[in-house]
Amino acid sequence: MSSAVSAPRRDCGLCPRLVRYREESRDQHPDWHNAPVPAFGSLDASLLIVGLAPGLKGANRTGRPFTGDYAGDLLYQTLLKFDFAHGEYGKTATDGLALVDCRITNGIRCVPPQNKPTGAEINACRPFLSAEIAAMKNLRCIVALGAVSHTTVLGALEQKKSAFPFAHCAVHQPPGRPILIDSYHCSRYNTNTRRLTTDMFNNVFKTVREIIDNTT
Ligand code: SF4
Repeated sequence: MSSAVSAPRRDCGLCPRLVRYREESRDQHPDWHNAPVPAFGSLDASLLIVGLAPGLKGANRTGRPFTGDYAGDLLYQTLLKFDFAHGEYGKTATDGLALVDCRITNGIRCVPPQNKPTGAEINACRPFLSAEIAAMKNLRCIVALGAVSHTTVLGALEQKKSAFPFAHCAVHQPPGRPILIDSYHCSRYNTNTRRLTTDMFNNVFKTVREIIDNTT
């Protein structure tokens, strides 16, 4: 299956509130991406990272997940550190950075106002994540960034939320499914309040690196 099969169309209209929001952004910033943000990285990867949704001035602007805002600074720096990326992160979709055995996507593909998607929007977009996971035949590990992403991933894996409670750096093994590892979202708010420190984020990817290296 190609990445195009699992991706929503640029004019996906399943979430009327998000369609209005991205159309407003198109009027204000016609040079921005302002559309569902496609995943970044190969479908052949062992690792899938799932964020919440594009940031207004980050992925919604640049068209690449986590690119151009604060959360991307920490995420890409960490991926480079643990050899899940090579090159230099230049905060644009054309910086030449390449992911290594890693793919990044969002549970909700369109930017939501105040970074807060509704339950209906999460449910509407989840089939795209399910299709993406199904298309990743080498997938061994999923990192969910934040509790909402954790729940979205569990839904995509058809697993009960109550069986796998969210906790930072928790490692879950749903039967017959990829390993799921939780992390607090690498947002500016979480790092400013020290809910998530650089060391805590490093520990997540150190764990991921060990799991992938030990199951090759
Ligand atoms: S969030 Fe997902 S389902 Fe909703 S309009 Fe965007 S691409 Fe479509």
